[in-house]
Amino acid sequence: MKVIPYGRQNITQEDVDAVVHTLTSEFLTQGPKVLEFEEKFARYIDSRYAVAVANGTAALHLCALALGVDSHSKVITSPITFSASANCVRYCGGEVVFADIDRSTVLLDLEKVQILLEKSPMGTYQGIIPVDFAGYPVNLEAFRKLADAYGLWIIEDACHAPGGSFIDSKGKKQFCGNGTYADLAIFSFHPVKHIACGEGGMITTNNKNLYDKLLLLRTHGITKDPNLMQENQGGWYYEMIDLGYNYRLTDIQCALGISQLTRAPQGLLRRQEIARRYDEAFSNSEIQCIIPEEGVNHAYHLYVIRIDKRKTLYDALRQNGIYAQVHYVPVHNMPYYQKLGYEKEIMPLAQAYYEKCISLPMYPTLSDEEQSFVITKVLENAF
Ligand SMILES: *Cc1c(COP(=O)(O)O)cnc(C)c1O
Repeated sequence: MKVIPYGRQNITQEDVDAVVHTLTSEFLTQGPKVLEFEEKFARYIDSRYAVAVANGTAALHLCALALGVDSHSKVITSPITFSASANCVRYCGGEVVFADIDRSTVLLDLEKVQILLEKSPMGTYQGIIPVDFAGYPVNLEAFRKLADAYGLWIIEDACHAPGGSFIDSKGKKQFCGNGTYADLAIFSFHPVKHIACGEGGMITTNNKNLYDKLLLLRTHGITKDPNLMQENQGGWYYEMIDLGYNYRLTDIQCALGISQLTRAPQGLLRRQEIARRYDEAFSNSEIQCIIPEEGVNHAYHLYVIRIDKRKTLYDALRQNGIYAQVHYVPVHNMPYYQKLGYEKEIMPLAQAYYEKCISLPMYPTLSDEEQSFVITKVLENAF
């Protein structure tokens, strides 16, 4: 039986050629492909700067470090995300505070965040990490207003949403990760995401200061910049001026990323086409779809539906070779967070969402026939 996964990469001969070409070139890492990928990605996302890193989790870790998260920090994020969105705060010893989601968009609810901020003294919180969950762009203009009122920074977890956008109050189209409203944004190039590098990640920003910090932290905190060094003992000399990491992305991976990026716009259009077909197929049923608001250009990393008999449907699909998935078990329900003392029932909307959600196959190479098969099996088994 042919398996239809919930997401998968699309590797073409051009991708293979690009990787092979880099493999036989002078640089396997720290060569010209890194900068080329960064520049092209920044252009796609419409941000000023981009920093390629080892994976999306490393991107989050570096963002938290660059913004100074430490054991005194409290940071707010959504419970409906991949654990890494929260974990980056823990890597730096900070405390994660979850706020509940909006029922219809499944995004971090601005009002819930505001309530948290209002009931604590000024200075309690340092930042917010909103997530463009499933590819639905967060209205970061609204979050920026709130963040400014409380002196907070914003890291946008845009892993699900390269190419997605929303229209701000001035009527301007704002691409996810473009750095207009968030201080930093991060992306992942894991094979289930829009652009595959095997492993890979990117940080985007419009802030030169943060950009310089990230470059340093990505490579051990090592510099050869005469303006940053205390002395210079000769051509060989460098200084480690901060505690950084090796979070570099290789030229091999960047070559793949550059090649993949050329097909990102058409991949996004195909995802949206698939979504429209699902929307239509389920419109006269009890199946609850997430319909984007006016002006929202949804990037559809995931196509999520909510139904009462989720487990029955999951098992039935599985028996037919359709490997749907659940995104996500609320982060605060994970045993690690439970051990830290988080209570399971504190976020009723996240819990209610989790009990009904299931992500259907969504990737550009999903054929019309495969999608028809998925739709038939969903309608047969959802009730
Ligand atoms: C995939 C993902 C990450 C982590 O990216 P990796 O490249 O797998 O480390 C972080 N946040 C979200 C929302 C993701 O989907």
